[in-house]
Amino acid sequence: MFMLRNLLIIMCLSIFSFSGCSQGTEVDKQQNKGKMEFKKLTAEEENVIVHKGTERPYSGKYDSFWEKGTYVCKRCGASLYRSEDKFDAGCGWPGFDDEIPGAVKKQTDADGIRTEILCAHCGAHLGHVFKGEGLTAKNTRYCVNSVSMDFIPAQASNGIKAEIKTDTAIFAGGCFWGVEYFMMKVTGVLSTTVGYTGGHTENPTYQEVCAGNTGHYEAIEVVFDPSVTTFEKVAKLFFEIHDPTQWNHQGPDWGEQYRSAVFYRNEDQKKITEKLISQLKAKGFKVATEVKPAKTFWKAEDYHQDYYRHKGSAPYCHGFVKRF
Ligand SMILES: [Zn+2]
Repeated sequence: MFMLRNLLIIMCLSIFSFSGCSQGTEVDKQQNKGKMEFKKLTAEEENVIVHKGTERPYSGKYDSFWEKGTYVCKRCGASLYRSEDKFDAGCGWPGFDDEIPGAVKKQTDADGIRTEILCAHCGAHLGHVFKGEGLTAKNTRYCVNSVSMDFIPAQASNGIKAEIKTDTAIFAGGCFWGVEYFMMKVTGVLSTTVGYTGGHTENPTYQEVCAGNTGHYEAIEVVFDPSVTTFEKVAKLFFEIHDPTQWNHQGPDWGEQYRSAVFYRNEDQKKITEKLISQLKAKGFKVATEVKPAKTFWKAEDYHQDYYRHKGSAPYCHGFVKRF
C-alpha cells in the first residue's frame, strides 16, 4: 500500500501539480474576498511592514513588556503570538519561541541567509526566525519588530476581544496532507492537526492505518476562531476541497482510511453538516460523506503535520471546486 501510494503520488504529481497550484489561489481568493481590510500605517510602520525595514534595537514598545495576552498583526489584526511564548532574548527586539500555529509564514530572506517571517494572513513583514541558539527548550527565536504588532491584553477592560474562544471541527476527506493544505489557508483558522480517528485501535501509527484494519480515517482537526469564521463556512469549504461523492477512496488513494466523513462534536455541527449534504444532494451530487459522532482524535506522526508547507509543494489530489 505504501509503495503503491508513492507510485500514485508520482504519477499524480505530473498530472495535477499545475492545477493544484492554481486551485490554491482560488481558495485564497474565495476566503479573502472582501475580508482583507488593512489598517492605515504610519511612515515608520510602513517602512518595517511593507519595505521590510528593522526598528532600532531596544526602541520598540514590546521589547521589555511582559503582560499576558495575544500579539496580533499591526496591519490585518490576525493573531500571531501568545505572551506565554515570549522570552527575554536580550537582543533588543521582542523574542518568542513559538507562534500561534499557522499564523506565521517563513521564507528565505532577500539576503539569501536568514529566514524572514511574515504574517501568514496578509504578508506583513514581522522580522526573522533563528534556530539552534539554545536560548529556550524549543531552540527557536522569532525576532519580531514591535512595530509590526499590536497587543491584546488577556483581561481586556476596554471592550476589545479578550482571550480567543475557539471551536473545533474534525473532517476526513482523503489524504490528510491535502485537506490540511487548504484548511490552513482559511481566515479564522488558528491551527490544524492531522491524525487518525473513527477506528477501534489506540495510538495508531501511519503504517497500521495504511494496512487497513484499524477502522481509522485519515482526518484533520481544525481549531478556529468563531468570531472570525463559523463551523458552517469551514464545513462548506471541506466539501469543496475534496470530492464528497467518492466512496472508499479519494482520487488515486484507495482504502477505508480515505473515506469522506464529518465527525461532529455537538448537535449543531451535526445539523449543519446534514443541511449541507442535503443541499449537495439537491444539486445532484451522490454524497458519500459519512456523518459520525467525534471519537478520540489520535495525532499523526510529526512528519505528516503541515506536510506540504514543509515540503514547499502543492497537493496532488485536492483542489477547490465550487459546489454550493
Ligand atoms: Zn497581517
